[in-house]
Parts: sequence; C-alpha cells; structure tokens
Amino acid sequence: SDFPDTAARLIRAIDDWPEAGVTFRDITPLLADPQGLAATVSALVEAAKAFGPLDVVAGVEARGFLLAPLIAEALGIGLVPVRKAGKLPARTLSESYSLEYGDAIVEIHADAVPEGARVLIVDDVLATGGTLAAAGRLFERAGAVVAGNLVLIELPALGGRAVLGDVPLTALLEY
Ligand code: IMP
Repeated sequence: SDFPDTAARLIRAIDDWPEAGVTFRDITPLLADPQGLAATVSALVEAAKAFGPLDVVAGVEARGFLLAPLIAEALGIGLVPVRKAGKLPARTLSESYSLEYGDAIVEIHADAVPEGARVLIVDDVLATGGTLAAAGRLFERAGAVVAGNLVLIELPALGGRAVLGDVPLTALLEY
C-alpha cells in the first residue's frame, strides 16, 4: 500500500506544542488530502480486519472521532464514542487516569455495547497509554470484550504499549 510514504509526507510535526519540549504529530494535513485520506482509510480497515470478528468500533474523543466512523462504516458495524467527562446525556460509566498534570476522565454510556460485544478501540496517537487503557476498562466494565486497540501513530519512547498489557495493539506508524 502507499500509506507509509503518503503518511510520512503529510503528517506534520509541530515542535513545542502544546507545551515546550513536546513534538505534536498533526494528522490534519493527511486527512485533508484526498489520496492521504483514502490511503489512511484503506490501511486502517485492513488493520481492523486482522483483529478478527468485531461488533463495534469505539472512537476516543477527539481525534479518534475522525477515524473510527470511517472504519465502522467500512466494516458494516456500529460506532460508539468514548467521551470526555460530562458530555454524554444518559447513564454513564467513568474511568479516570493520570496525566502529567492532574487527571482526566473518559466515559461511555452504560448501555453503549451489548454484553459480550467485541470492541475495537481507535485513536490517532498512542503516547503513555493512559487514554486507551482507561477506554478499555470502560468496555470491560460494560461487559464487552476489548478485541484490540488501533492507532495511526505509536510513540514507542513513551511506553504506552506495555501499559495496555495483554490487549493487542496495532499502530500503522511509529515516531
Ligand atoms: P496517552 O494517554 O498518553 O497515550 O495520550 C494519548 C492521547 O493524547 C490521545 O488521545 C492523543 O490524541 C493525544 N496525543 C498525545 N500525543 C499526541 C500527538 O503527538 N499528536 C496528537 N495527539 C496526541
């Protein structure tokens, strides 16, 4: 596939954002490009199929929301949002996790997935792994099975893969 070359050309590195010392990987130019978007969707859908049978794709707010629906629609299955605290209207499950400064909370609706559903959780970037680990705990508490995690970009120096433990992770790129 032409995904790795296209992505290398179109993903942009922003130094010292959101704070000094951090290099932010910005996927917006990749998604804005017609061939970039097509290559990204093909690569994500192919990777998603390798997780075996799936019932639901979950997208993590905010940039996971840009990717997960494309995968779910292509696979012919449903889409569930994993949201920041306080955004979902019905009864929720919540999980908190530590950030460098303070805590963050992610939520799903308590009835978002059927018992035993096989869920693929999607985000743009795996950094420390706190976000995807917390999302995984939400689906386990809901009675679902986390079939795996799929990201565009893994930052291996931050050790997120180990934080996810036994849950399989596929990353299309590493920086
Ligand atoms: P983690 O919880 O430390 O793994 O951080 C992952 C979350 O932070 C994801 O939701 C990402 O969208 C976001 N994130 C961390 N680093 C980057 C980056 O370089 N580019 C885009 N998003 C990032």
